[in-house]
Amino acid sequence: MNTYARQPVAFVKGQGVWLWDEAGKKYLDALAGIAVNTLGHNHPRLVRALSEQIARIIHTSNLFRIPAQEAAADRLCEVSGLDEVFFCNSGLEANECALKVARKYGHERGIAEPAVLVMERAFHGRSLATLSATGSRKVQAGFEPLVQGFVRVPLNDLEAVQQVAAHNRNVVAVFLEPIQGEGGIHVSRLEYLRGLKEICDQHEWLFMSDEVQCGLGRSGKWFVYQHAGFLPDVLPLAKGLGSGVPVGACAVGGRAKGIFKPGNHGSTFGGNPLAMTAVATTIDTMREEGLLANALKVGDAMRGGLANALQGVPGVVDVRGMGMMIGVELDRPCGELVARALDAGLVVNVTADRVIRILPALVMGEAEGREVLERLVPLVRDFLARPAAQPRAAAAA
Ligand code: PLP
Repeated sequence: MNTYARQPVAFVKGQGVWLWDEAGKKYLDALAGIAVNTLGHNHPRLVRALSEQIARIIHTSNLFRIPAQEAAADRLCEVSGLDEVFFCNSGLEANECALKVARKYGHERGIAEPAVLVMERAFHGRSLATLSATGSRKVQAGFEPLVQGFVRVPLNDLEAVQQVAAHNRNVVAVFLEPIQGEGGIHVSRLEYLRGLKEICDQHEWLFMSDEVQCGLGRSGKWFVYQHAGFLPDVLPLAKGLGSGVPVGACAVGGRAKGIFKPGNHGSTFGGNPLAMTAVATTIDTMREEGLLANALKVGDAMRGGLANALQGVPGVVDVRGMGMMIGVELDRPCGELVARALDAGLVVNVTADRVIRILPALVMGEAEGREVLERLVPLVRDFLARPAAQPRAAAAA
């Protein structure tokens, strides 16, 4: 189906943070398949582990025990501090699982129509439930009727949450990305997250942290809630979890532990030996190579470098983010920068129309981080140097 406005480039080979297209042109990859290739491309340890697993067995079924799934779940529980994991194949599936947990939790508390508090500008996926939780009309338009049971508030506004808590007895959970990705790299304040968790505890709501994009080391810790110093009840994950092998997971603990019983949820492919090998190898390699510390060091250096280089440049609204999740907001739509960057041998993305998004593999080194800036900053300056009216006039012509 015609669902993507694709760039006319095909990458056929990768090594670390570098990509090559069909013509042999080399690119610096500052996007990592939208926060997916945690270990970069062609990591020898991942390639070896996956090759060996393929030669042994790829898929059995959740009708049987899957030792590789148990090993992956143990690792996820260790790094997250949570207790149980359901494995699926994508971010939206991890979020569907989270939303089902919330509804079941509500019903068990005698709430017939449980509601979930969600955020403006959120992105949670494109299934009917997750697009309904998403805070973007663009994603929802044409797919009504939306799934009911969501109450929306602005991010970083505790007062708004308190208002809802005072008036809506049906709310059973808060569901947010602690760093919004698709919505334009909006970072929750840590005091806000702590305040939100307190409200959840007061009202016995679930705290559900969608870390599909921001989790798995990208922020400099395994998960963003660890910066705020508490545990969520529900943690949907995907993207970077398998370093490129499709896999999602929904981990639970606290009030959400034990909600699902046999028969409540399932997935044919979820948790198969191949995907589970990718999860365990990704986590082990991140630990052994110190990739959390690297994400913080290199990511912060990139963000600081960008802020310095673009300071005072007319048209630059903000440079923000955390670790290796960086957004540069401009005062105008800048989608065309993606193609210009490709011409310059750099892979970046633009989200929310005017935010340049940088999500490198966590293996990106300091020199490569500097190289991203050396390629990107002149492009941004050049783009902004044109009079703002010019593109509109050109479009009209
Ligand atoms: N949640 C967040 C925070 C995301 O960024 C995304 C994808 O961008 C999703 C959920 C949906 O994940 P998927 O595309 O794997 O369904």
